[in-house]
Amino acid sequence: MAQDPLVAHSLAEVCLYLMATPCPACAQGPLTGPDRVEPAGGSGDGEDGAGGEDAPDRVGAGDDGAGEYTVSAVAGRGSGPLTVQLNATCGTCKRTWSLRFRLPLGTGVDPAGGLAAVNSTAEPSRIIDVAGWVMLFRLIIDRAGREPDKAASRQLGLEAAQCLDEALKFYDADNDLPPITSFFSDDARRRLTEHPRDFSRQRLIQMRARLPTLGAMRARALADATARAAASPPPRRSAWWKRLLGGGG
Ligand SMILES: [Zn+2]
Repeated sequence: MAQDPLVAHSLAEVCLYLMATPCPACAQGPLTGPDRVEPAGGSGDGEDGAGGEDAPDRVGAGDDGAGEYTVSAVAGRGSGPLTVQLNATCGTCKRTWSLRFRLPLGTGVDPAGGLAAVNSTAEPSRIIDVAGWVMLFRLIIDRAGREPDKAASRQLGLEAAQCLDEALKFYDADNDLPPITSFFSDDARRRLTEHPRDFSRQRLIQMRARLPTLGAMRARALADATARAAASPPPRRSAWWKRLLGGGG
């Protein structure tokens, strides 16, 4: 599937894109990937990895063993522009899709705290539309509510809040519904027609107001990560995108 790379604001946005995107063949999915983005456990200071690598590198996708990615091309360092190529497998029809992402702003992971930001700019996403962000918010906030581990639940809450913030970036201040150009597919436009209330800006703002600020949530997630690091040794194999940061395992 030769194509121009998709442009993303961060590795977290790439992960969320896979969660939000139906399989191109069967329209089901999900495309296999980590079901959450965790803070990087440290980007490492190795000098390798700067020039990219050609050999496919099979890496684990996350704590829950939800699947694997093949990361076959990595160019650039953590903080600089980055190109990522990966294979995503459909959970329904089992086809594998090769996807390439360009990250002009780098990974979005704060090297000091290790927290992953979805999009630190005011620019709306180019790869996930407003309907995708609203769906992701609901999915992830629901997971946060069911997650028994408090720190993990807070991490999901931080991710959900960022999804809601991404949805809100598509709106004009003087209109309660988003512009039609902020829906990228017929399916998404149909969702607007059938459930306009789901896309009420005022309603999304009310939901956002019930959550803490990103600053407060980040501070808490950082404290959780510090406590976790002190309590246990880091896992031997980390999520694929963390390995991108370290240039190896
Ligand atoms: Zn499929």
